[in-house]
Order: sequence, then C-alpha cells, then structure tokens
Amino acid sequence: MNVAADIKMQFLFHLRSKGVMDTRVLTAMEHIDRAAFLKGLFRDRAYEDVPLAIGCGQTISQPSIVAIMTEALDVQPRHKVLEIGTGSGYQAAILSRLGRRVYTVDRFKRLVSEAEEVFKALNLTNITAVTADGSHGLPEQSPFDRILLTAAAEDPPSTLLAQLRIGGIMVLPVGQSDAVQRLIRVTKTETGYDYEELRTVRFVPLLEGIGQD
Ligand code: SAH
Repeated sequence: MNVAADIKMQFLFHLRSKGVMDTRVLTAMEHIDRAAFLKGLFRDRAYEDVPLAIGCGQTISQPSIVAIMTEALDVQPRHKVLEIGTGSGYQAAILSRLGRRVYTVDRFKRLVSEAEEVFKALNLTNITAVTADGSHGLPEQSPFDRILLTAAAEDPPSTLLAQLRIGGIMVLPVGQSDAVQRLIRVTKTETGYDYEELRTVRFVPLLEGIGQD
C-alpha cells in the first residue's frame, strides 16, 4: 500500500474511533482531500486531527469535529444546506457531497475567494460562497433543510432559526468564545424547537459585520 493510502486509512479509522459511523459521512471525508484547503507547511499536517491556521486569523476545524458535526446534521441528497463560517471551505466541500446544494457564508472576502478557487479545482459545482455577515443568514435562499454554524454563537440566532424549514435541523456551537462551548442540535417542529446537547467543543466566535481582509 502506498503511504498516502495508508495515511487515509488511518484517518478514517481515527474518525470511526471518535464514534462517527455514518458511511456517507466517512466516504465524503475519504474523497475530499483536506490538504487541498491548506497552504505551505500546513499541507503536510492535513491528516492530523488538529485545527490549523488558514489566514485572516482563522482556522480549519479539526477533522473529527467536522465529521461529528456533519453526522449530527444528517444531510440527505435532496437537501439545501447553509453553512455559516466558510473558513477554508473544507466543511462546505464535505457537505456538498452529501446534499443537493450548499450555500456557505464568511465575513472575510479573502477566505471566500480562496475557498471558491479550491471548489473550482476540485470540480465541486454545487457550492455557492458568499461574503456577508452570516448572522443574517441568506433570506433570499431560505428556507434551508439544514443549517450549520462553524463559529460559536451565544444563543442560536433567531434570524437563522427562522430560515430553517419545518422538520429542518441546525447544528451549532453555543457559548462564550473564551469558555467551553456546547455543540447543540436544534430541530424545528410544527410547534417550536427541540434542543439536544451533543458534546463540548471550542470554536472561534461568530463576529458581527464584514472582516477587513
Ligand atoms: N468551516 C471552516 C472553519 C470555520 S472557522 C472550515 O471548514 O475551514 C470559523 C469561520 O467563521 C471563520 O472563517 C470566520 O471568519 C467565520 N465567521 C465568524 N463570524 C462570522 C459571521 N458573522 N458571518 C460569517 N462568517 C463568520
């Protein structure tokens, strides 16, 4: 077996050891090369289970957390998905293999255009990346079947909950940026919302406005 295949097998084994069992999620993570979303020396560390710097003071998430969040989101082939916090574009790329269409929003124009380049190179044609303050969502494209936040909010933003279809699911880290945050799953029902706590996590905060880079 060549070294790259061996590293990939270990990577998938590691994701399974973290409790990720959904074969669609594991297959998506097998096909999307995390190295494509990293630069320079960080590329060599793509298959380590750690967050890594991507510019604009932001990070690409730890792969096991990407896998856990993706599994919790339960994306189906016909789904329209919104991600807040494009960052490197890695999470959006994984989502694009599971759903019909992915909208991803980041407050940094530079991150959005770099992610777009990678989507093009990988021929991922069902992703639309937008530079905007994601806390407003994308009302013109709503409702969404699934919404994923990859930056921590103090509470589930009501504007985003309003853009979720009934029966839809939103997964997000909730809590103060300098404290332990909880990953929660919100399901929108006919009468309100069901909340479920999944685990503790640590994400950069959801910030207001457009970034200066
Ligand atoms: N999902 C990314 C990692 C996200 S890091 C990946 O796969 O690489 C969190 C991202 O959220 C950062 O890029 C940050 O700029 C973005 N962010 C923070 N607040 C935001 C907001 N209000 N609107 C849009 N993006 C935001």
